[in-house]
Amino acid sequence: MTLRTRFLLLMTLIFIGFIFITWTLSGSLMNKLNQQWGEQFAQRQVMFDKYRTLAPLIREIALARQMAAEPAIIEMALHESNPEIQKRGIAAMEKYRFNFRDHSYFAAFAKSGHYYFNDAKNQYASKQLRYVLSPTAAKDRWFYATLVSGSKYQVNLDPDIHLNVTKAWINVLITKGNQTLGVIGTGIDLSDLIKETVSIAQHGVENLFIDKSMAIQLNSDPELIDYMTIAKDIGQRIKIDKLLKNPDDIEQLRQVMLALENNPSKVTTLKVDYKGSQYLMGVAFLPEIGWYDLTLMSDQSLNLHDDLIKGHVWFGLALLLALIILGWALHSWIFNPISALRASTNKIGNGDFEIDPPLTGAGEIAHLSRSFEHMARFVIDTNHELEQKVRERTEELHHLSEMDPLTGLLNRRGMMDRFETEFSRQVRQGGSMGLLLLDLDLFKSVNDTFGHAAGDLALCEVAKVLQSSKRGYDYVARWGGEEFLMLMPDCSQDDLMTIAERIRLEVASITMQSGGDVFHLTVSIGVHRPHIPETLDTMLQKVDRALYTAKDDGRNCVRLAA
Ligand code: GH3
Ligand code: MG
Ligand code: MG
Repeated sequence: MTLRTRFLLLMTLIFIGFIFITWTLSGSLMNKLNQQWGEQFAQRQVMFDKYRTLAPLIREIALARQMAAEPAIIEMALHESNPEIQKRGIAAMEKYRFNFRDHSYFAAFAKSGHYYFNDAKNQYASKQLRYVLSPTAAKDRWFYATLVSGSKYQVNLDPDIHLNVTKAWINVLITKGNQTLGVIGTGIDLSDLIKETVSIAQHGVENLFIDKSMAIQLNSDPELIDYMTIAKDIGQRIKIDKLLKNPDDIEQLRQVMLALENNPSKVTTLKVDYKGSQYLMGVAFLPEIGWYDLTLMSDQSLNLHDDLIKGHVWFGLALLLALIILGWALHSWIFNPISALRASTNKIGNGDFEIDPPLTGAGEIAHLSRSFEHMARFVIDTNHELEQKVRERTEELHHLSEMDPLTGLLNRRGMMDRFETEFSRQVRQGGSMGLLLLDLDLFKSVNDTFGHAAGDLALCEVAKVLQSSKRGYDYVARWGGEEFLMLMPDCSQDDLMTIAERIRLEVASITMQSGGDVFHLTVSIGVHRPHIPETLDTMLQKVDRALYTAKDDGRNCVRLAA
């Protein structure tokens, strides 16, 4: 795997790892934050709802209780048949009519079952006694149920069929001592109350009220309100199970409601299934009216998840950008220079010494590149030097291999080379060549008499004679022990004979000294100059035969080949 691939893999792993870790960490952090924030939000919302709802009701309840305590009204409840007392009682009620928010009131008396009512338009002036309640009529059951309920006041939602209004009725008992004399109060138009309390514009947040029996008292959907709760058996009421489908949630709520009754200033939150998703529910108790305020907030309305995802996308993009920049930097600062350097080393490895110019810059790789170029140049120079030396050495060796070490003349091999060169030159250009074959006479006896060293010296002296006798382009070789061969291109037969004769005389004139003794040498010479082209072997045979002839003819003479 190349460095480039490895880095790409590493960066991908880092990217995935970072995203995974931040996602996991921030996910759990966000969940915690969401939960805390949700609970706080719920608590605030519930407190807000609680007082928003209570404020108008409490005022009406206080006013209604004040009205119930009016002596003129209590008097009327006791002695309704007395017209004077009745008049005073109705006058007292009319006084309160203007103070109630709804500008209406009602009063129902236990003794007579008479129901009095007047509204904002004062349409029942002087006929406030509207009708007589009946303990057997279903529509009047609220009255009898309230009388025996035991609580001093209650809020009851009730559509009044006779008056064609649906109201939240504030029912306050009229009492004297232990005696319950009737129910008095006012109503608040339900649609107003719903508008003010349970129709929350905030998306994902809903608000409703239930009583202790979990019957729904206020809800944005009027269909789901349990009207006339007090007049109904528990089983007939519209309860919270219409909204909460999970029995566990209802049980949990029941526990919370019990706990809150003892601690009304508290707000509790719980998680419930609502409309098919998770909601956070804030619960508060309203002891003034015995209701519970439930505020439901969808997880989405609380969630910061969208922001979290957005944050992650931005983080991911930033990380990706950072990695791309890093990748680009690695490419241009490291991978590309390394590739160039590698290409250079490969070139040299393949024997191509055309070095690319080194990288410029002050970085480590540029330094490395320059060092490499320096090293490569050194290698190339050394290589050239070595090649030169080897060439010289080879030439030297070649030269030595063609030389006779004793006399410094060509040896037999050297002479054969010259023969070949000369032969091919003759084939190309034409011309002739002559040969002299020389053999020292009775040389064995020289060795025997004066020693081998003296013989060697004698051979060197003869070599000097031959060397000085030859022309610039002639060749002379030590052909055997005391035998010499001269190759003389472009030389006439007469010239050959002349040169041979001169050599013979010069050798004969050499005076050798050995340990006080003096001796002389003579040489026999065979001469051959072919008139037609001949092979080397033929030429050698012929000159050899000429030499034998010279020997046979008594030595120290020159003989021309037949
Ligand atoms: P001839 O040629 O006249 O018939 O008599 P010769 O004595 O020269 O006979 P031959 O060719 O048989 O002997 C050659 C001698 O040359 C034998 C050997 O002792 C001597 N010789 C050959 N090479 C060398 C050498 O390198 N150094 C010395 N000192 N003697 C050599
Ligand atoms: Mg010989
Ligand atoms: Mg000899």
